[in-house]
This record gives sequence, structure tokens and C-alpha cells, in this order.
Amino acid sequence: MFGIKVMRDHHNLKQAEEKQLIAAIAFESQEGMMITDASGIILHVNKSFTETTGYTIEEVKGKTAALLKSGRHNIDFYHDMWETINRTGGWQGEIWDRRKNGEEYPKLLTISAIKNKEGVTTHYLGTHFDITERKAAEEKIKNLAFFDQLTGLPNRILLLDRLRQAMSASSRNGRYGVLMQLNLDNFALVNVTQGPDIGDMLLSQVAQRLTRCTHECDTVARINGDEFVVMLTGLSTNEIDAAKISEEVASKILALLSVPYQLGDETYRSTGSIGVTLFRGHLATIADLIKQADLAMHKAKEAGRNACRFFDPQMESLVIERAALEKDLHQAIVEKQFLLHYQPQVGDDGHLTGAEALVRWEHPQRGMVSPADFIPMAEETGLILPLGKWIMETACAQLVLWASHPKMKHLTLAVNVSARQFHHASFADQVLAILQSTGVDPQRLKLELTEGMMVEDIEDVIEKMLVLKTRGIAFSLDDFGTGFSSLTYLKRLPLDQLKIDQSFVRNVLTDANDAGITRAVVALAQSLGLDVIAEGVETEAQRNFLAEIGCRAYQGYLFSRPLSKENFEVFAQQF
Ligand code: C2E
Ligand code: MG
Ligand code: MG
Repeated sequence: MFGIKVMRDHHNLKQAEEKQLIAAIAFESQEGMMITDASGIILHVNKSFTETTGYTIEEVKGKTAALLKSGRHNIDFYHDMWETINRTGGWQGEIWDRRKNGEEYPKLLTISAIKNKEGVTTHYLGTHFDITERKAAEEKIKNLAFFDQLTGLPNRILLLDRLRQAMSASSRNGRYGVLMQLNLDNFALVNVTQGPDIGDMLLSQVAQRLTRCTHECDTVARINGDEFVVMLTGLSTNEIDAAKISEEVASKILALLSVPYQLGDETYRSTGSIGVTLFRGHLATIADLIKQADLAMHKAKEAGRNACRFFDPQMESLVIERAALEKDLHQAIVEKQFLLHYQPQVGDDGHLTGAEALVRWEHPQRGMVSPADFIPMAEETGLILPLGKWIMETACAQLVLWASHPKMKHLTLAVNVSARQFHHASFADQVLAILQSTGVDPQRLKLELTEGMMVEDIEDVIEKMLVLKTRGIAFSLDDFGTGFSSLTYLKRLPLDQLKIDQSFVRNVLTDANDAGITRAVVALAQSLGLDVIAEGVETEAQRNFLAEIGCRAYQGYLFSRPLSKENFEVFAQQF
């Protein structure tokens, strides 16, 4: 009996030893293992753990697993993980941890709660596999799936995915995007005559050039052979503006593509044809857009290649019209098709105090073109520089002539200066040179600036203003109230006058908001010690309102429309 017990004990002991041995061997398996107590304090880790994490057993014992956190997952992630463990007794998933050397790595982690007979958790067992290599392989597969191997550009699949995202973003922010399909002209010929290696070289260089023409947020994709797609997003909420930008980018691309290529030992010339279609939100389907861009691209080919065409013919004609106007504007500068009109400015007793010079373009075919149409274009193209110089010279020469008229010698002349013109490094010098060459009295000259100019390099603006102001030139802030005025800059600018924008004046009697703004502008001018003038005064009632709130100077159709030089001189005689 006793012997049997001994034997059985011995047997049990052996079994327990075996179990322990098996457990010990299992614990030293390929997987990294960690045992914690119920509160998460690390009790033991295996060799594989120390190998992957870089920590020794001594370094982690007594600490918690938080030691391994990479910072890639947020609180919610860990919260959800523990919630699952508490609910189901375990968790499995991919997690990024940090090795002792700081390196972050992905691992497949399994956590199991170990419970006693009563079902109370006494320990946790964590086992993990380092999946760095698997992840890298996955990444490579993803690359193969979404990127063109030759050029490294996104492929068709990724393009479609981005297009889908871009359409959603566009439906939220209302901004247009554009899809441009580009095809190289005569690419097949290169491939056949020069061989596919040279063809590949050309495609790679085209890819680089396209990337250079676009911003990081844009997508340049190669979708097939020599077919590329450029997608721009977040352009403008205005369709015509978006079309304009697209046309500019397309022109830039065409110009860059036609620069000779060095392919091996040979220099080679190529051009491209571009089809453009705009999109906003989900108004058209992805398939439609691709088809539209493709159709437009074929139109460009038909037009003789090395060209860009829009899918929407109306957009096309607008863009063509604009290009034609731009060409004419270059010509107009050369041929001096401009003249100045003068709109009277009057004081509170109705007396003529001066005028604003307003440029007019007498187009040989189109007739009078409004400055609202060509000034922005002149700004964009830089033509405002020669045009602005001509305006300044002409205005000053006019003032000199008026100086010899008894009825006109006291008049001031306000000249509009556009942002690009003012920001030009030599602007102040140019004005000083004109003062010199015309001999005009600077006291009679007033420059109209706009709030938009103050956004850029305010220190430079102030410096230029001061240079001119010390010579006696005055400054007025045009269209006041329509920009993003900040009181801080307003206080710092050496201004003489605020010009209340006509959009407020128009509604002072009907719109309480506009009346309020107008009142505030007058009060602001007074508190800053500045003059104030209202533009766009069309009725007696508007003038009376303005007079009542303290405005003492006016300009508008009520007094006179802008007049030719001759008519203005006649107008001035009545005072
Ligand atoms: P702005 O400087 O605010 O000029 C006032 C505009 O309001 C002028 O239009 C003028 O004809 C118009 N206007 C004057 N009184 C009234 C009125 O009682 N009612 C209405 N509805 N309009 C009135 P314009 O001549 O077409 O000029 C438009 C804009 O073009 C100007 O706005 C200015 O920003 C720009 N501009 C005009 N001439 C020049 C110039 O010589 N140089 C530069 N850089 N810009 C110019
Ligand atoms: Mg003006
Ligand atoms: Mg104005």
C-alpha cells in the first residue's frame, strides 16, 4: 500500500517534472514570450523576446509592457485591446512596438489571460512574432500593385483611387479639380526606330518633367504605354478660374516636354497632346471623366499635336478667348493702345478737388475694353510693369500740363497701383525717376493701393511708402473694407486716406450692414487721423447719408462719370 503510494508519488513527480520541462522548452520557442502578473508587471520573458526587443530579462522584469510602446497607436487602440482581453480572455493583432535601440517594428501579438480555478485572471501570457520582413514584402507587393515599375509613378489603379478621393473632397469643399490626359506625339516611332530601351528612357524623362511641373499634392500617373494622366485638385470654386489654372499648367507641361531629350548618345525631340476635363464633386462618374479627358486629348491630336484641348467646348472657347486677349494685350503695350480717363473727385461743398486716373484700352477691333477685364491679366502676365509705368508717366505729364491752368493747378490726381507693380523691386526708384523727368509737383500726386498688397512683406511696403511720402506723394487705400484689413497694419502704414469701397456705398440706404460698415470706416479714419473718400456715389441720398456720418469727399456718377482728358478739362472750367 505504502509502496504503491511512493510509486505513484514518484510517478506524479516525474510527470510534473516532464510537464515543467516541456513548458520550459515551449517557452524557449521561436516566438517571443512574456508573462506578467494580473496587474501587468513583467515576471518573465524568453530568449526570443530578448533577441527581438534588445532588452535583457533583468531590464524588463518588474516593469510593464508599456516599456515597448512605439507611440504609433493612440489610447483608443490600447483601450480596445484591453477591453477585448477582459471580455474574451485574449487578443490577437498587429502592433508596432519599439526595440531598445529605438527602432519601431511590426509584430503579430497574441495576449492570453491565464485564469485560476475560480476564473480569476492571475497572469497574462503575451506571445509575438516579429513581422518586419513580412510587412516589407507586403509593401513591395503594394508597390507593384499601385506603381508603375518603369517610372515610379502611380499606375492606373492608384490614379482611380486618388480620383475617387479627390471627387469626394471636391464635393465637400466645392473646389474644382482637373484631369489631364497626356499622350506623347509619335512615341511609337521612337520605339520602333530607336528600340524599346530608348523608348523607356524617354518615358522616364517625361515622367520626371511632369513631376517637375506639378505640386506634391497633385497626381502624375502613367496609365498605359505613353499615356500619362495629371490630376490637380482643390483649384478654385470658380469654373473659369479653374480652367485658367489648368490651361496654364498644360501650357507649362507642353513647353517642358518640347525641350530636347538626351537619350543615350542622341538628342531627341518630342511633344505631347493634352486633353483636359474639369470635375467638381460627383457630377460626372469616374468613367465619364476618363472618357472626356481621352476625347479631349484626341481633339488635341487632331488639332495638329503639341496642343491642349478642353472637353467642354464652352470652356475651350473661354480659354481661347482669354489667350487671344492676352496676345492682343502684348500688342497693345507695343502699340500704345491705352489712354487715361479722369473721374472727378469733389469736396463737401461740391468743389472739384482732383481726379482719379482710370486706364482705358482702345482695342482696334473690340472697342473699349474694361480695366476690370485686362488689369488682372496684365498682373498675371507681368505686363502690368510696362503698362503701370506708362500710366504713371502719363498721369504725371498730365498734372504738369494742369499746373499751368489757373482752374486746374490745385487738382490732385490719384493713380491706381497694382500689387505686382508696387512689389517690384524698382517701383520706388521708377516713380522717383518719373518725378524727375516730368518735373511734376509730388504734392499733387496720390497713389491708390489696395489691401491685398499688405499681405505680402509689409515691411517692404512701408519702406517704399516712406521713401515716396518724404517726397510729398500721398497714399490712399482703395476698395477699403473688401480685403482682410488688420488694424495692426493699418496703424503702421503711412496712409493719408481711406477710400470706402463702392459696394458699401451702393447699399448704404438699403442694407443696415453696409451702412454700419460705412459708418465704422469713417469713424476709423477719423480716429487714425486719415481723410476719407467715398467712391461710387450715385445718388443725392447716398451723398447726404455720407455727409451726415462725417465723410467729406466723394467720387461717383452723381458728380461725373470718368471723362476723357478733353472732357475733364471742360468739366473743370465750371468751378
Ligand atoms: P477702382 O480703382 O476702385 O476704380 C473705381 C471704378 O469704379 C472705376 O471703374 C470707375 O469707373 C467706377 N465708378 C466710378 N464711379 C462709379 C459709380 O458711381 N458707380 C459705379 N457703378 N461705378 C463707378 P473702372 O474704370 O472700370 O476700373 C475698374 C478697376 O480697374 C479700378 O477700380 C482699378 O482697380 C482698376 N484700374 C483702373 N484703372 C487702373 C490703372 O490705371 N491702374 C491699375 N493698376 N488699375 C486700374
Ligand atoms: Mg481706384
Ligand atoms: Mg475702388
